[in-house]
Amino acid sequence: MRQMPADTSVVPYDIAVIGGGINGCGIARDASGRGWSVFLAEKGDLASATSSASTKLIHGGLRYLEYYEFRLVREALMERETLWRIAPHIIWPLRFVLPHHKGLRPAWLLRLGLFMYDHLGGRKLLPATRTVHLRHDPSGAPLKSDYTLGFEYSDCWVEDSRLVVLNAKDAAGRGAVIAPHTCCLNGVREDGLWVLTLRDELTGDITTVRARTLVNAAGPWVADVLNSALHKNTSAAVRLVKGSHIVVPKLYDHDRCYIFQNPDRRIFFAIPYEQDFTLIGTTDLDFDGDPSQVSASEDEIAYLCKAANDYFNVPVTQESVVWTYSGVRPLYDDGASEAQAATRDYVLKLDAPMDSPALLSIYGGKITTSRRLAEAALAMIEPHLPPAKRKAGWTGEEPLPGGNFPVNGFDDQVRAIALRYPFLPMSLARRLVRAYGTLAHTLLGDATSMADLGKMFGAGLSEAEVKYLVRHEWATTAADIVWRRTKLGLRLSKAEIADLDTYLQTNRSSMLAKN
Ligand SMILES: Cc1cc2nc3c(=O)[nH]c(=O)nc-3n(C[C@H](O)[C@H](O)[C@H](O)COP(=O)(O)OP(=O)(O)OC[C@H]3O[C@@H](n4cnc5c(N)ncnc54)[C@H](O)[C@@H]3O)c2cc1C
Repeated sequence: MRQMPADTSVVPYDIAVIGGGINGCGIARDASGRGWSVFLAEKGDLASATSSASTKLIHGGLRYLEYYEFRLVREALMERETLWRIAPHIIWPLRFVLPHHKGLRPAWLLRLGLFMYDHLGGRKLLPATRTVHLRHDPSGAPLKSDYTLGFEYSDCWVEDSRLVVLNAKDAAGRGAVIAPHTCCLNGVREDGLWVLTLRDELTGDITTVRARTLVNAAGPWVADVLNSALHKNTSAAVRLVKGSHIVVPKLYDHDRCYIFQNPDRRIFFAIPYEQDFTLIGTTDLDFDGDPSQVSASEDEIAYLCKAANDYFNVPVTQESVVWTYSGVRPLYDDGASEAQAATRDYVLKLDAPMDSPALLSIYGGKITTSRRLAEAALAMIEPHLPPAKRKAGWTGEEPLPGGNFPVNGFDDQVRAIALRYPFLPMSLARRLVRAYGTLAHTLLGDATSMADLGKMFGAGLSEAEVKYLVRHEWATTAADIVWRRTKLGLRLSKAEIADLDTYLQTNRSSMLAKN
């Protein structure tokens, strides 16, 4: 699935978007559903930057209450159930256990915060907070005996990079042109339009696209795009804050997460991950390097291991770390002294001098609030566009691709797949429904045996799935498939990933040609 920018010298796009992270793709989805023509350029793979490096929580952000971010927390809390409804395959509820730590925040303060958390955000489906006696509750078993009291509350999990690709897929289904591996080199205002110069990063070809309005959703590169590509010479108010995660073999058997307090007043999470692992993160460090080269430092890994060792009975050592990933938060610089205190709210800046085409730049935000950010962004550029064909708000009503089943219907979907494709191992049926929802049927097609799914690359990854990802989800390289469309990189060997890459290099063009 690779669309090249159409020649728009006659008919310009209504909106051009720079950046295929959650914010760019969320805006593309909303805008195309409202009848505007959209072109989106992403210089790498979709979600190749911050939007695949999050903690993967759809959450209100309990700790933001301490910074009085009530607007953000309320909006984020309300989004939990909305997003769960539109994407019940890739978003699901989680219970978080927050142990009380003597010497840190008092129990009454935690309970008060959770009371607000339960009541601020229109919770209808997610269960409320309860007190947990850790000596008797199974969630206390993996923890050191010092922790006796805790609270358990609700938030949700999201497959972050899949959320991005599903927004892009939905946008494309509504007419948007989504162009991964397309870097915006230059943008100028000319004859009442934005004229963008784009480079195809796979072929080196240069093209031009014209648009009435431009959205700079370049995440950590928002200032870079403003200064280098759009020649604005602004001292853009962006604060880059790095966060790293470690993945270790699973530390416990139950399905709840932990939110732990650290003596430095930061909090961190330990979350069941991909069945056999525990995800631990994150750090918060000011960053001034190249965001495309970000990785977890030895110090960050040691910090997360030490933090986990204060809570878990089983030692977490640097040797037990099987994978790390890092991302850079493109936060709005509100002048906060500490990185952890910088606002996580989004800030939208409109540049639309009289009679010239509008430019909207996006700072900050969360995966959780990206749908609302898209609505706010479009409200700001709407006066510069032809009339919309539909009102704002539809994105919270209509399911994302594959998500057209009830929030409690996941097991029914797995049963339906197992019934239609009885040859599939149950674990594979579950994984496919988690990733593709009802579109797992499209992926599997008329297969009646495992052999019909073609070559097997390892860990249940079949040629049929690879073809689906190339044709319908813009996958180009093995990394796109094993780290962003799936997380099979945790299970595949280096040789198996190399084999997949070779297969893609040889067969990708013919797969697209037969589309
Ligand atoms: C460690 C960490 C943990 C987090 N945890 C959570 C969480 O649990 N829940 C939550 O809700 N949020 C979380 N967040 C926040 C969330 O991940 C970000 O707010 C969000 O991903 C930002 O999306 P974005 O689209 O702005 O940026 P990005 O995802 O970085 O997308 C910007 C894109 O622009 C592209 N680009 C840049 N320049 C150009 C150019 N010239 N031409 C074309 N393309 C270009 C880049 O390649 C990139 O893909 C976390 C963030 C971090 C770092």
